[in-house]
Amino acid sequence: MESKNLKKKVSAKSASLGGVLKKNEKIKKTVKKAAGELTSVNEILKQEKVSVQIMKQALTQNEDAEQKVAEAAEDLKLVNVQLAEEIAERIMIESQLADTETDLAEARDDLSKAQVKTEEAQQIALQDALTGLPNRISFQQGLDHGLIQAKRHGWGLAVLFIDIDKFKNINDSYGHDMGDQVLVMVANRLTSFVRDEDIVSRWGGDEFVCLLFEVKQEADVTRLAEKLIHRIAEACEVNGIVLSIKASIGIAIYPTDGDTADVLFKNADTAMYKAKGTEKRVVLFRSSGERKAG
Ligand code: GH3
Ligand code: MG
Repeated sequence: MESKNLKKKVSAKSASLGGVLKKNEKIKKTVKKAAGELTSVNEILKQEKVSVQIMKQALTQNEDAEQKVAEAAEDLKLVNVQLAEEIAERIMIESQLADTETDLAEARDDLSKAQVKTEEAQQIALQDALTGLPNRISFQQGLDHGLIQAKRHGWGLAVLFIDIDKFKNINDSYGHDMGDQVLVMVANRLTSFVRDEDIVSRWGGDEFVCLLFEVKQEADVTRLAEKLIHRIAEACEVNGIVLSIKASIGIAIYPTDGDTADVLFKNADTAMYKAKGTEKRVVLFRSSGERKAG
């Protein structure tokens, strides 16, 4: 707003400066004209046969011309003072404008830095710090959104609840840091196994949740879960120690195992506990022998 007002002032200054310059030009023309008149009077005075009458007339004319030149010189002085003032004022306004524009640029810069920080904070709020996976808040948002889409398009949707078996033993035997590295390894293996559009999230501790969209056959989901168990169990070397990590997966599929986020999640969790200790380590909720929750 201030910048706009200053810009208006600069253009008003340009207009008034133009006015002063015009005056200047006008005075110069007057001087030129008077100088021309002086020359012609001098020509008359140079002639030999000039009547006294004409000579008098020429002298009066000469005096007039001199008077005009003197007045014009006075006007010119005044106009020059005016011109100097106008120029000084314009310089001042332009420097104010430059300051305001610098302030504006700084304010814009601050704003975009604040926006980046807000976006980073939002990103951090939705991310698990250890694995970089979406956290449970992000997962819940994904599940709510996925259910809306599934209901709209008549798609199936699968929730896989994954828990590492005897994870405490890893911490106790090799230390917490080693446990952390195992969690990162499991996160990477899970992520590389599902499609880009599916969601793998860390629920907390040694628990992960996968959300599979556009599920067509439940057999596809159980097959994928069994493959996941084998992928996670593949030998991995952490800090020079070779480990084989076992995990268990419980599955709940929309719409058969629940039609709300809470029920699906709860049923997948229940199925996971049923899966612990089974040979396959994968249990689909409806075949877990539990009464359907919700
Ligand atoms: P179960 O087979 O029944 O799942 O037994 P478990 O030992 O895996 O037991 P549980 O899942 O209840 O324990 C998870 C452990 O994970 C408990 C906690 O000390 C540990 N833990 C939780 N968060 C972290 C973490 O961020 N890093 C590490 N290293 N350990 C964690
Ligand atoms: Mg566990």
